[in-house]
Amino acid sequence: MSNQSIKFLKVINPANANIVDEIPMDTASSLASKFTLLESGQAQWRQKSVAERLAIIQRFGEIVKTNLEVLAEILTTETGKPLQQSRNEIRGAQNRIVHLTAYAEKWLATETFDTPSMIETIKYEPLGVIANISAWNFPYNVGYNVFLYALVAGNAVMYKPSEYASLTGLKMAAYLYEAGLPESVFQTAIGDGEVGQALLDMDFNGYFFTGSHKTGQHIAQSLASKLIPVQLELGGKDPLYVMDDIQDIRQAAINAAEGAFYNAGQSCCAVERIYVSSSIYDEFLSHFVEEVKSYKVGNPMSADTFIGPLTRSAQIEVLEAQVKDALDKGGQLECGGKKLPGLGHYFAPTVLSAVNHSMSVMMEESFGPIIGIQAVDSDEEAIGYMKDTVYGLTAAVFSQDKERAIDVLESMNTGTVYWNCCDRVSPNLPWSGRKNSGLGSTLSSQGIRAFVQPKAYQLRLP
Ligand code: NDP
Repeated sequence: MSNQSIKFLKVINPANANIVDEIPMDTASSLASKFTLLESGQAQWRQKSVAERLAIIQRFGEIVKTNLEVLAEILTTETGKPLQQSRNEIRGAQNRIVHLTAYAEKWLATETFDTPSMIETIKYEPLGVIANISAWNFPYNVGYNVFLYALVAGNAVMYKPSEYASLTGLKMAAYLYEAGLPESVFQTAIGDGEVGQALLDMDFNGYFFTGSHKTGQHIAQSLASKLIPVQLELGGKDPLYVMDDIQDIRQAAINAAEGAFYNAGQSCCAVERIYVSSSIYDEFLSHFVEEVKSYKVGNPMSADTFIGPLTRSAQIEVLEAQVKDALDKGGQLECGGKKLPGLGHYFAPTVLSAVNHSMSVMMEESFGPIIGIQAVDSDEEAIGYMKDTVYGLTAAVFSQDKERAIDVLESMNTGTVYWNCCDRVSPNLPWSGRKNSGLGSTLSSQGIRAFVQPKAYQLRLP
């Protein structure tokens, strides 16, 4: 990456392809200066108590709440997320601060074991200066999962927002400083993938990445020789199985559709494929398609829009290819199936039936408003299909029968399983992917401890 010439990042509104802003990108030398600043700041920051660090994060949370509307408009403008969903995300992400308030001191506290001749102590030390390379689809949720937890644990953070959520990232930094966080403890790395790549060549004490499997794998390979903590929160191809004992088939279809189409399907844990018991398949499909056809698609700034544009225009080609592949192999298009006319990156909400596992729509992450729905004749058949994936983020079952559902869920090799719910994250629980969905956990006690390293003190009494 060039040291000299400053390049500008164009922020484009995906709803109309207008350039909203042009912001200066970091260079190798600006990143190096920021890193040096963070190293000196972290040495001071780690001396503060957890309570002192937490107080600043709590103030940040209050500032974010006060500025909810401004922040929601920025998020919608740069990502195309419908305004109401932007508000939901920003409000909802506050639960990370509530979680830290309740548990950070407990999980970061020193532990001591007294024996007759020894004092044995575990101290949890911060990692140091960490890099947080992040995604655009839920920048508050996935950002907070890393940088708020890292800061409370005594680390300094270089936060690289996605190039598609950089205005949001800069606002978060400004509000952290307003809350009293020293600039020497939190810095942004602004730019595209090249800036992310430059961070890999620097000497951070840990790398925390949220994004695609392809980039995550590249990051893990690039960092392997450094022998430092690397966490990866990656994509998924999350299945939902709707069992034949469901009482309210229409409500199950509505809930499943929301799990698949919220944020235009651009959630890491979106429902990406659905299996339905054959005895209720036709009825489920018809309610599902009716629900999807009722979604208001359009300007994300409108209060009643449920599906906005895709954030990245390049994803349209992926979705078109999945539709073509499914139709070539005998799938049936129930609705949607194409890009909508106009300058924005809109793809019509798409439902495919008569699908199978020879089709990319059932095997590869779609990350858009598209779903395949397949009939199954037994729980065993459903389990076989649900497990037929390289991913391992979440799996869901809708059923009246908890034990039957748990039997299926126990066999899933995923970090999260859901019964009668889907597409949700709780700060009380570890958020982790298996196989191609990632390495390590955020949230819960695990996510608090992810940003510290234990040091064992073995102190023999004289
Ligand atoms: P990408 O992998 O494209 O990008 C993620 C981040 O990596 C961005 O900041 C990107 O910068 C940066 N980057 C790109 N190239 C490099 C490189 N060579 N070296 C270092 N950093 C680089 O993912 P998306 O942002 O498109 O996010 C979507 C993906 O994230 C989906 O697969 C989704 O499932 C997954 N995801 C997973 C979550 C989880 O918790 N498991 C949560 C949210 C999303 P830039 O954007 O500027 O190019």
